[in-house]
Amino acid sequence: MPERSPRVLIVGGGAAGRACAQELRARGFAGSIQIVDAEPGGAIDRTLVDKALLPGLLTREQIALPPIEGVVVTAGEAIAVDFGTKTVEFRDGRRLAADAVVIASGAVPRRPDGIDVASEVQLHRLHTAHDAGALRESIPQAAGRRVAVIGAGFSGTELASHYVDAGAEVVLVGRSAMPLAGALGSEISPRLAALQRGRTDARLGTTVHAITPCGARARLSLSDGSSVEVDAVILAHGAVPATDWAGSPDGIRVDDRLRWSERGWYAAGSAAYIASGGMRLTTDHWNAAVAQGQHAARTILHDFLDAEDPGPYRPTTGFNLRAFGSTISVRGLRSPDGSERPAAWPIAPPQPDAVLTEFVDAHGELTGVAGFNAGAAVARVASSIG
Ligand SMILES: Cc1cc2nc3c(=O)[nH]c(=O)nc-3n(C[C@H](O)[C@H](O)[C@H](O)COP(=O)(O)OP(=O)(O)OC[C@H]3O[C@@H](n4cnc5c(N)ncnc54)[C@H](O)[C@@H]3O)c2cc1C
Repeated sequence: MPERSPRVLIVGGGAAGRACAQELRARGFAGSIQIVDAEPGGAIDRTLVDKALLPGLLTREQIALPPIEGVVVTAGEAIAVDFGTKTVEFRDGRRLAADAVVIASGAVPRRPDGIDVASEVQLHRLHTAHDAGALRESIPQAAGRRVAVIGAGFSGTELASHYVDAGAEVVLVGRSAMPLAGALGSEISPRLAALQRGRTDARLGTTVHAITPCGARARLSLSDGSSVEVDAVILAHGAVPATDWAGSPDGIRVDDRLRWSERGWYAAGSAAYIASGGMRLTTDHWNAAVAQGQHAARTILHDFLDAEDPGPYRPTTGFNLRAFGSTISVRGLRSPDGSERPAAWPIAPPQPDAVLTEFVDAHGELTGVAGFNAGAAVARVASSIG
């Protein structure tokens, strides 16, 4: 343990990196904390990119994350790590050394691998503030336009709902006939599919083979042999860890305390994954990234300043998917070796079509809960997740 207070360097100042810094300060950590972040214009609340920036409800400045007292935040892109000297190298030539380094560089949109995309076709993504601006420019008036959304998961469904509300005809292409089944279970996933089919031209269980120009439009050729012409194409088929730069393109594998392989190195949020019992636990949600950032902070305090061991990180947070007038809420996790069952309602079902499913592990312990139009009940059941 260093005799002086340890220096903490956090790469990435989004949900996880910022929460790590805040937790360290909240627990009285007196050493230096430096965040270096590559987001053009500074880190943002990414959850608002589709909900507030795209519809023009808020500006880039309004979704910027505010400063944290006692934490130095600078702009910069990390390009390499050096375990030996415990330094991180940045594109601007800086090499920053620290006692504890937290990798919290998030994720980037998945590339359209496997799709033959003609170079003339413009593909949109929605990850950064710049992406939201480009989409607004490309589709200034959605009414009467046909928009393809590739990916029928969380982001794709919210995007499809946005464009349907704005008057567009949406072609929603999803690889699985049971969207988000891994997270929602067998009762709620079909409800989501029914919503998608009811409000969009949903092509579920289908993939895109090729995207070619067709006058001012683009033509999607699908795996079922059909094709469809659209005015704009948005890729929303997931994200991959933004960790190439750290020599770990598949993400940073951490232990259950969020330690990377070498002493003094940690990772949290979408950049990290925990491998346990043949399962790869990743986080794709804001609150989970925050919880991991906080957990990494408590591990650092334990490792360097003999604070209490925080114990293993257990996912208890979740997400709400709001689309087409319905809300799907999830807390905790569906364990791959566990099972699902209808949950006993802790309160009266709020509406006749509400569904509540709980997930238990192989020992029957509650690991998660999901609800369709049942947010309050989900929150009640979630309070029992161990
Ligand atoms: C459009 C959209 C809508 C979403 N909506 C929701 C929602 O409603 N609810 C929900 O729970 N989740 C939502 N999410 C997911 C949520 O935003 C992420 O799970 C969360 O931001 C992950 O936190 P993070 O800290 O790992 O990454 P981020 O918050 O993305 O932060 C990572 C930071 O690291 C920076 N960085 C990347 N590479 C480097 C580098 N080499 N050097 C330095 N800095 C680097 C990035 O610029 C970024 O600022 C949404 C995501 C998107 C894209």
